[in-house]
Amino acid sequence: MTAAAASPQRLATRMADVGGLPVHRAVPQRALRKVGAWCFLDHLGPAVQRGDRSLQVGPHPHIGLQTFTWMIEGEVLHRDSLGSEQVIRPGQVNLMTAGQGIAHSEESLGSPFIHAAQLWIALPGNERHMPPRFQHYPDIPRCHQDGLEIRVLAGEALGAVSPVQVHSPLVALDLSLPEAAPAAVTTELALRADFEYAVLALTGEVDVDGMPAVPDELLFLPAGRSALALQCTPGTRLLLVGGAPMHEDVLVWWNFVGRTQEEIAQALADWQAGPGVDGNGRFGAPVASPLAPLQTPALEGRLRAG
Ligand code: MN
Repeated sequence: MTAAAASPQRLATRMADVGGLPVHRAVPQRALRKVGAWCFLDHLGPAVQRGDRSLQVGPHPHIGLQTFTWMIEGEVLHRDSLGSEQVIRPGQVNLMTAGQGIAHSEESLGSPFIHAAQLWIALPGNERHMPPRFQHYPDIPRCHQDGLEIRVLAGEALGAVSPVQVHSPLVALDLSLPEAAPAAVTTELALRADFEYAVLALTGEVDVDGMPAVPDELLFLPAGRSALALQCTPGTRLLLVGGAPMHEDVLVWWNFVGRTQEEIAQALADWQAGPGVDGNGRFGAPVASPLAPLQTPALEGRLRAG
């Protein structure tokens, strides 16, 4: 089939609160449950932090996913039930593979500004019970095209390969044009026709296939296109995520990604049972955080897979 690629679908994001700061939640939403295996996309900030308005997320559990943090501004301390303690700084990625179960906390270290993206990747069904792991990536490959700086956060682009260890075919790119750039930039980005993609403008103004996108508006691109025309003005930053469409329905509830209601209910019960005498419960040792654990919601009704 040689038909022209479908136009991008414009989707709104919604506001949510994460640890005291407003975020734009782009995925999941009713019209879009995942992009490849990316099943959650929060854009945090750019925001000023002061006093009680700063990112402070107390201990909470995860299963069945990888949490993927991309830090643009600010510093956040990650601690988890494996004993990891890691500060993430601008230009770095933290990857936490929850697998069968992990708990973590995130505390902003008081920088005046914070700007980050937090994403979740659903693990494939046959790997979702893997042992938990935490990985910190201080060096993310960067390349340039037509004056745009492109950081290859996951997967590969322009011959650069991200070291971030994922479990399904996917990509994440941060594209930016500095405020000081002399002029707007037009470029054509190569895409994989077997991937579906979403573009989220983070700051500035960008035209995607001639369609203007404002910050925190999501454009979804169904599989089947091999290139994307972008026009960026100075000060633009955007995130492009993509992946092979995931032909498995997943259940996303609270901080859990599973396949069945029973699996989610069991994870909730295991979290509520606590770490056990030697920290040998499902979610490991208590997280060494001064913050109170997040409140656990009640699991009511049947969950909807998507
Ligand atoms: Mn988390």
